[in-house]
Amino acid sequence: MSTAEIRARFLAHFEAAGHSVVPSASLLLDDPNLLFVNAGMVPFKPYFLGQETPPYDRATSVQKCIRTPDIEEVGKTTRHGTFFEMCGNFSFGDYFKEGAIELAWDLVTKPVADGGWGFAEDKLYPSILDGDDEALHLWKKVTGLPDDRIARLGPKENYWSMGVPGPGGPCSEILIDRGPAYGADGDFSAEDRYLEFWNLVFMQDELSAVRSKEDFDIAGSLPKKNIDTGMGLERVAFLLQGKENMYEIDVMFPVIEKAQELTGRRYGADHGDDVRFRVVADHVRSSMMLIADGVTPGNEARGYVLRRLLRRAVRSMRLLGYEDPCLPELLPVSRDKMGETYTDLHADWDRIARVAFAEEEVFRKTLQAGTQIFDLAATEVKEQQRTVLPGDKAFALHDTYGFPIDLTLEMASEAGLTVDEDGFRQLMAEQRERAKADARAKKGQHADTSVYRGILDANGPTEWLAYETLETESR
Ligand code: ATP
Ligand code: MG
Ligand code: MG
Ligand code: MG
Repeated sequence: MSTAEIRARFLAHFEAAGHSVVPSASLLLDDPNLLFVNAGMVPFKPYFLGQETPPYDRATSVQKCIRTPDIEEVGKTTRHGTFFEMCGNFSFGDYFKEGAIELAWDLVTKPVADGGWGFAEDKLYPSILDGDDEALHLWKKVTGLPDDRIARLGPKENYWSMGVPGPGGPCSEILIDRGPAYGADGDFSAEDRYLEFWNLVFMQDELSAVRSKEDFDIAGSLPKKNIDTGMGLERVAFLLQGKENMYEIDVMFPVIEKAQELTGRRYGADHGDDVRFRVVADHVRSSMMLIADGVTPGNEARGYVLRRLLRRAVRSMRLLGYEDPCLPELLPVSRDKMGETYTDLHADWDRIARVAFAEEEVFRKTLQAGTQIFDLAATEVKEQQRTVLPGDKAFALHDTYGFPIDLTLEMASEAGLTVDEDGFRQLMAEQRERAKADARAKKGQHADTSVYRGILDANGPTEWLAYETLETESR
């Protein structure tokens, strides 16, 4: 079943059940805690927080999402994209747990011929928050499954909050068992075996404090209980298309095919190469969707994410042996697939292409100059029989040649070296202090965005996780 068909069936199912179909919002919504929309509920936040009255009691959408904290997982797990589409249904004080469970289970198990997805019930495992007896009872009632087919998970997986006082509540997920090739029987921590594809959030609690995902205070019940669900379109697509992972679905695989053609390497022949092919397919698509929504590469927060995605795509192609400009070859392939749903990709193509191709050109020059400096430094370290690239070299690469630290780390590891990250961070912190002092001196003029870059760069991947705590990703 095509991704487009799965999306259409989702919306039709919920529209028939009285939901208003709401188009996807932009990836860029004004939200002080979010760089990008990262879940279907984000555009509906004012309703869930009681700040605005929704014009409907029930809504459904397929929302474009970006999750930067997942960047390190891309291509390594079977299920994480930096861009993905989240199908959702929402109840604002209308139906609650039973309605949400019935609606989801019906679509998932209804035969394909009747408009459903036809998943075999004997492979499905609903999960509950351990202790949510109401959900346990309802799952058994609605599905007829025995008690031991319902997985009990802790608050880390199955309690949702926004990380701040406000609404919260237990979740239920629908997992599908993909068999022993992906992990041990009954081991729900093997997340590529017991693959989560739908999360139902039962918003019922008023939280007075949230200290961590597992440590929070429930002050009482919400006056109006809400439902927020999120279902990963690509996950259902790879399951229904009989593929091994999300990067092989109909709207993503053509980019891998094109990359095979360009590099002359074969997908499926080598694990390291396969990860790179998947990174290319993911990052090309994510970058394109970000540019379409108005992001341009830069050194501040959003622009820096885009820059990092574009550069990782280009560099992955280089590691696959392709040294010519690759985006002019790959981006149109992604556009032709995604453009079937997101028609503005065609209408706005000249601009999107210009932005992406220009960034590749800049990066090619950076790489050329920086790679020589890196090689010199690496040779020097090896000649001294050492294995650690000094922090000041990493800093110089960053400062003079615009090498993001993750690029330096990656290249060092390929050369059999590590990097003195503490030293690097120290120098970055000093630079940040200088930038702050500068900004203070210039107060009244516009903000110095290089501060953001400093933070992002200096902390590398860990800072992406820091965003996660800001983002509403605790479910
Ligand atoms: P996982 O545990 O696999 O990382 P999650 O619990 O972080 O997923 P939720 O926040 O519950 O995901 O989001 C709802 C649904 O969105 C998930 O059940 C999944 O189907 C989908 N989803 C979440 N993150 C991604 C991603 N990075 N790429 C593709 N789909 C995703
Ligand atoms: Mg996750
Ligand atoms: Mg999860
Ligand atoms: Mg989840």
